[in-house]
Amino acid sequence: MKPKTQPEIWFIAGSQYLYGEKTLEQVREHSSQIAEGLDASPHLSIKIRFIAVVTDTPDIRQVLSQANQSSTCIGVIVWMHTFSPAKMWINGLKTLQKPLLHLHTQFNRDIPWSSIDMDFMNLNQSAHGDREFGFITSRMRLPRKVVVGYWTSAQVHKEIDHWARACAGWSDWQDAKIVRFGDNMRQVAVTEGDKVEAEIRFGFSVNTYAVGDLVESIRQVTPAEIAELLAEYEEKYHVAPELKKGGARRPSLEEAARIERGLETFLVSGHFKAFTNTFEDLHGMKQLPGIAVQRLMAKGFGYAGEGDWKTAALVRAMKVMGSGLAGANAFMEDYTYHFDPDNSLVLGSHMLEVDESLASHKPSLEIHPLGIGGKEDPVRLVFNVAGGQGLNASIVDMGNRFRMVINEVVAVDPPHELPKLPVARVLWQPLPDMHTACKAWILAGGAHHTCFSTNLSSEVLMDFAEIAGMEALVIDKDTQIRDFQKEIQWNDMTYRK
Ligand code: MN
Repeated sequence: MKPKTQPEIWFIAGSQYLYGEKTLEQVREHSSQIAEGLDASPHLSIKIRFIAVVTDTPDIRQVLSQANQSSTCIGVIVWMHTFSPAKMWINGLKTLQKPLLHLHTQFNRDIPWSSIDMDFMNLNQSAHGDREFGFITSRMRLPRKVVVGYWTSAQVHKEIDHWARACAGWSDWQDAKIVRFGDNMRQVAVTEGDKVEAEIRFGFSVNTYAVGDLVESIRQVTPAEIAELLAEYEEKYHVAPELKKGGARRPSLEEAARIERGLETFLVSGHFKAFTNTFEDLHGMKQLPGIAVQRLMAKGFGYAGEGDWKTAALVRAMKVMGSGLAGANAFMEDYTYHFDPDNSLVLGSHMLEVDESLASHKPSLEIHPLGIGGKEDPVRLVFNVAGGQGLNASIVDMGNRFRMVINEVVAVDPPHELPKLPVARVLWQPLPDMHTACKAWILAGGAHHTCFSTNLSSEVLMDFAEIAGMEALVIDKDTQIRDFQKEIQWNDMTYRK
């Protein structure tokens, strides 16, 4: 799923006619060299393409309008090699709809002490050209990322990549279709939200489909398709004896495979990127989908349970943002605590739907009763998740804006066997510590549903929130409750309408 071939980031350099054609020719050459250098970086996952040196208002408006129209351009990097009077940029920037990154660099790394003259100074003016550009973008209150540093440095490439990944997630959301089978789990507040506002702000649409439509798709699955999936299960998982061929519960596994194929066909044929369902609305289905959802999430579909379309959308975007990286992005729920003062832990899981891409070993394929939903016992994959750095992210609807809450965590290998727990599970220590992290999360109104990531940094998500015009609160090693409470209060003022 590495998007190297399709989407691209446009690189545009700003200048002006004042310097004459000879200087502009150098600006063009240097700018394309920088763009090529970035494109060749092993730290950058998305193609960087040099587009133009722009020198006046019509030029700028035209190139930024082309960026808007382009189906491959997912973001724009702008850099001022020389001075580029920023009033020229106003009309173009007013129309820009693609994410913006302002790169503050300089073509020459060092001052050529013995040869520097006024020609050199006039060409290498980023130090004040970029300040002029910074003023107008600040004056216009434009969302953007600013990256500072020499253009060959790995750190600069990594920071640009964080933003480029956020651009990829954002691009994926535009026109994305999300299915909701049934409505919200009754009476739950945090999974609700304004779907119209979400479409206006974020670009994706959420629409409800009758469970009966899904049931019809499941009904049409052929015995050959079921057999194909069963063979795949046998190969990939430790199958419980009762689910094996001739086992007493084999029909349940066949039904689970039928559900998986029917659900996948429904999603693929409808061009849906994410989905959500609820155990309260399964009319016509024999089991709550367990392994089906686990495997479809691992294939890249966004998902969250109980009608939670916001988390389903977030899971999908984070999967796209983490594309090509080792690790995973997965639907998660804060389930149970271990309040040992010396080793406080959160156990994350869901009643069935834990993403297979998190598994640290070959999963077990098992069947167990499920107390809710009133259906037959569902088949599910059971596994542990390896330790390592990670984070949880959640989007909630605060009524007048969407808020993202991010908590950095350290996942740990399970310290004990959990022989009676019939679901996949993750254990983590939230940063900065259990009490502060949980208190901050609750003060921020963060949901119990999250996307758990083992390969995205807070910076990627902050870039994403900036692009999306969404409030973002980070709980990390430096979080202190008193400051965090003030941040919430200030943000409430910022978003007051
Ligand atoms: Mn849940």
